[in-house]
Amino acid sequence: MAGRVAGKVALISGAATGIGQSIATRLAAEGAQVAVADIDAAQGGEVVREIEQAGGTAMFIALDVTEEAAWRAAIAAVDVAYGKLDILVNNAGIALFGTVDEMSFKDWRAVMAVNIDGVFLGTKHAVPLMRRSGGGSIINISSILGIAGESKCAAYCASKGAVRLFSKSVALECGRDGSGIRVNSVHPGYIHTAMMEETCQRDFGDLETGLAELGKVHPIGRVGQPEEIAAGVLYLASDESKFVTGSELVIDGGYTAA
Ligand code: NAD
Repeated sequence: MAGRVAGKVALISGAATGIGQSIATRLAAEGAQVAVADIDAAQGGEVVREIEQAGGTAMFIALDVTEEAAWRAAIAAVDVAYGKLDILVNNAGIALFGTVDEMSFKDWRAVMAVNIDGVFLGTKHAVPLMRRSGGGSIINISSILGIAGESKCAAYCASKGAVRLFSKSVALECGRDGSGIRVNSVHPGYIHTAMMEETCQRDFGDLETGLAELGKVHPIGRVGQPEEIAAGVLYLASDESKFVTGSELVIDGGYTAA
């Protein structure tokens, strides 16, 4: 299949729904062989079927990003199926909200486990296979809330800020070791997915009001769509960005410009 990432192999965590699904679908449409990795097997299998029906190549991998053994098995499965790994998108993420005194330590740890431990484990176990593959691109999905703070959001903001600097540190390491591995973070504004629909219900009572109100905090006047994040990830995954590492791609309708 021709395309901007033709011949490349990609693993995307949290690819059963939302932004991850959109990234998997777009990379496959642009010629990559795609591993759709998620804890949700039913929905993940559906994404694989959609990609195959559109003429692409994909497989589902059951992966809880907080489990090191699961990451080892996932990377090994990609190696067996496709023989290499060129692109890793650490996309799986969760959000739990509450004031700092309300938030339980259990919830704090749950957010950290998925949002930053998961990114560390994925990167750690992907790098050796990427080295053997002759290089690669690691794309870590952070957030505008990894750049700017938000109230009742300390765990999420802390985890996403950690993703931003983790990415830069590993980018320096991999830039200097001659491995040909690039590492960048992506910072979406509010994007219309299941995660954002929960925010709308919780903070505004209903989806329509939430979409309108959250739209207003972006200078462009609306929330984003998953495809708009997938387009940026595609650029970072492709060789078009071969001089880009340690950078942060902000896709936020102007949210962080002020
Ligand atoms: P979503 O909730 O719609 O989808 C998340 C996916 O991750 C689901 O398929 C879920 O099953 C999977 N997942 C959750 N825990 C997992 C685990 N432990 N192991 C493997 N998979 C797991 O979320 P989304 O809105 O598509 O968000 C995707 C990423 O983008 C997240 O990292 C999120 O923090 C980030 N982000 C989202 C927004 C937004 O407004 N939606 C904004 C900025 C950043």
